[in-house]
Formats: sequence, structure tokens, C-alpha cells
Amino acid sequence: MKIKGVIFDLDGTVVENSYDWLRIREELGTGATSILTYLDSLEGPERSRKWSVLETHEAEQTETSVLRGGVRGLLGLLRERGIAAALVTNNSRKNTDFLLNKFGLAFDCVITRESGLWKPSGAPFLEVLKRLGLEPGDCCVVGDTSFDVLAAIDAGIGVIFLLSGEPEKFAGFPVEVFPDMAFLKEYLESLLAV
Ligand SMILES: [Mg+2]
Repeated sequence: MKIKGVIFDLDGTVVENSYDWLRIREELGTGATSILTYLDSLEGPERSRKWSVLETHEAEQTETSVLRGGVRGLLGLLRERGIAAALVTNNSRKNTDFLLNKFGLAFDCVITRESGLWKPSGAPFLEVLKRLGLEPGDCCVVGDTSFDVLAAIDAGIGVIFLLSGEPEKFAGFPVEVFPDMAFLKEYLESLLAV
């Protein structure tokens, strides 16, 4: 495989934070529906009240997010090799811009939830491919949750890397799990050397 683009997730991947998604979902009463799809289905005062619950959690987590070790090194490697780097997040443009500015990071393409394209659908990944002029087989995805995996599969992207300290959580998923960015960078360098 000749990698031409890498699509990164933001929260939990490029930056580290401690969202308690289970608790947030309970607080919102989403049931089995994804948070954004659930909120988008609401109307009137309930809609604005619940959106602000999510936004409050996001503001807190954004404020305290730290850059994951090894991110600059990996982005530097991609730039050196002429490989595009994209960012796809279900977070808002405001929080994303805040984090990119805070840590001085630049991506060739950034898709946030204002696009109306959300993981776990593959639609935001397909949008990246369209904008960068790439095919699913040219790209890999780097994420930290099952949403990243489902979105990649939905978009037809077969090379999926997850960063997680609990690889057993992803047993049976068609993914490679790495404990941190340094291991992933090493692995990508070996792929690129072939
Ligand atoms: Mg994530």
C-alpha cells in the first residue's frame, strides 16, 4: 500500500482528555442513538437545553486537553514524505480551532460537526477523500474509539490504527492497536520504507 493520506481523530487521539461518554449519554438520555444524531432529532427548548449540556462538557474537556506525545513527530514525518494529514472530529469548529491554535497544529483538511457529516458514518471521511482527491485505498485512519473504526469501514478505508492502552477492547475489529504515537510512527515508517 502506498499511503497518500492519514485521517486523524481529534479527542483521545491528537489530544488527550477524559470525556465520560457513558455518563454524558445517560445525562442526555440518548438511548442507543449517537449523541449528535439524537440532539439533531430534538426540537424547541429540549433541543437547546440538551445541546448546551453537551457544549458545557466539551468546553470543560477542551480547556483541559493536552497534546498527545508524539503527535508533532508523526505530523512532521507525514509532511516530510508528502503525505496529507486530515482531521475529522464530531467536536465543534470552535473547540477544534482552539486546540489547533493552542498547540500550533496544521492539517491539510479539517472536518468538524458543522459539516453535518458525523462519525460513525463514513460520510466525513468520504468528504476528506473528495477534498484531497484520494481513494479509500490510499488512506489510513488513526483514532481511539469504535466510532473511528465504524466510520472507516463505512467509507471503505481498510487500514485502521487505534491508540489504546486496552487492545482487548478491540479484539475482533479489523484494526491494529498501538499503545502510543511513537509505536505508530515506527510502524508507519516501516510501511513507508517498503
Ligand atoms: Mg476520539
